[in-house]
Amino acid sequence: LKNDQLDAWDRDAFFHPSTHLAQHARGESPTRIVERAQGVYIEDRDGNRLLDAFAGLYCVNAGYGRQEIADAISAQARELAYYHSYVGHGTEASITLARMILDRAPGHMSKVYFGLGGSDANETNIKLVWYYNNILGRPEKKKVISRWRGYHGSGLMTGSLTGLELFHKKFDLPLEQVVHTTAPYFYRRNDLEQSEAEFAAHCAEDLEALIAREGADTIAAFIGEPVLGTGGIVPPPEGYWRAIQAVLKKHDILLIADEVVTGFGRLGSMFGSDHYGIEPDLITIAKGLTSAYAPLSGSIVSEKMWEVLEKGTDENGPIGHGWTYSAHPIGAAAGVANLRLLDALGLVANAGETGAYLNRAMADALADHPHVGDVRGEGMLCAVEFVKDRDSRTFFDPADKIGARVAASLLEQDKVIARAMPQGDILGFAPPFCLSRQEADTVVAATARAVRMILG
Ligand code: PLP
Repeated sequence: LKNDQLDAWDRDAFFHPSTHLAQHARGESPTRIVERAQGVYIEDRDGNRLLDAFAGLYCVNAGYGRQEIADAISAQARELAYYHSYVGHGTEASITLARMILDRAPGHMSKVYFGLGGSDANETNIKLVWYYNNILGRPEKKKVISRWRGYHGSGLMTGSLTGLELFHKKFDLPLEQVVHTTAPYFYRRNDLEQSEAEFAAHCAEDLEALIAREGADTIAAFIGEPVLGTGGIVPPPEGYWRAIQAVLKKHDILLIADEVVTGFGRLGSMFGSDHYGIEPDLITIAKGLTSAYAPLSGSIVSEKMWEVLEKGTDENGPIGHGWTYSAHPIGAAAGVANLRLLDALGLVANAGETGAYLNRAMADALADHPHVGDVRGEGMLCAVEFVKDRDSRTFFDPADKIGARVAASLLEQDKVIARAMPQGDILGFAPPFCLSRQEADTVVAATARAVRMILG
């Protein structure tokens, strides 16, 4: 197809997700047609080769062009493209993958329910929480607490859980069963005198106060990402998860760890739950499960919840929850090949080591810049937050779009892709785990140049 033809069809027929539709229609955000990719580089049809320091949408963890995963997908499609796993059916790939996930997950987890993406996996989790409480005879325990700046998807319930205004505005969200609590965002704490430990305690106190206001007997679950992702790439303050879990235990509130970004190694540990000592009742997985070679997600269910779900079906018949594509064999084959590859190449360890190198180098290059307020990260996640005045921590006017301008300059000058995070002037990095130190140096040098270009 000629470029003109594709451009016309793109404007006439294609509805881009999470996009300013009117600007796109006016030609203000032209579409880059991505054609191929290898390692950490993507190539577009105009011949540009770009270093993808965000791994797509922090999902191509194993890196692009992995023959082993492509072969597994191809073999599965030829042998058995599809069969469902409803009542008494299954496929070798999906059963094998469930076993492999549990072998890697925290020890108290018991079963894996497969979906397609992170949003539907979180929808499943909330339904399982409600089912669980109904079976236990406490139907009033329904509300779910999430954090401001959390990201959990963009369905009706998951968009409600997401604590970013953009995902609520004009959609009549959040739904009434969702309440939000303080984001564990140390750099943006209100009281600048607070230490990290004091701020973590403050977050737990805020949670305690919210539970008291709503009534503990109305709260079913708390959902959180081990490291806040889309909300700004924010590792938790020291002691945060310990303090939060103590509050949840006290009030018999289930904990959902949304590990869509952190699962399968992004922090240098297999799960963020291991990394921070979190003991969740449910774990959400997607993205890194297949390194995005095929859509697949999962809800990992703890032993404690599983026992109640089983009992529920004895009392009520089959559980009425399933998608046509639950446990799709092609996604499962991709998952099996991906997890084997992560092991064979030691990619989780590399995410930890090269990630630490990237974070150190970024801090060394930028931490003294007068408009860089914070450089933070964990494993293969890194963020640079811009600020108008460092001492008073005054932020730029969002209309100045500083974060987006730095990202655009980085792309234009040095062909490096970082993500301007949706809220605040924050540049995010989440490269594939196979990033080399040399590539990390390229990313850092290019970022320093882009920052100087836009902010002097
Ligand atoms: N949860 C987290 C933590 C995410 O980062 C995302 C997506 O970025 C989701 C859930 C939603 O996943 P999906 O976009 O696959 O529906």
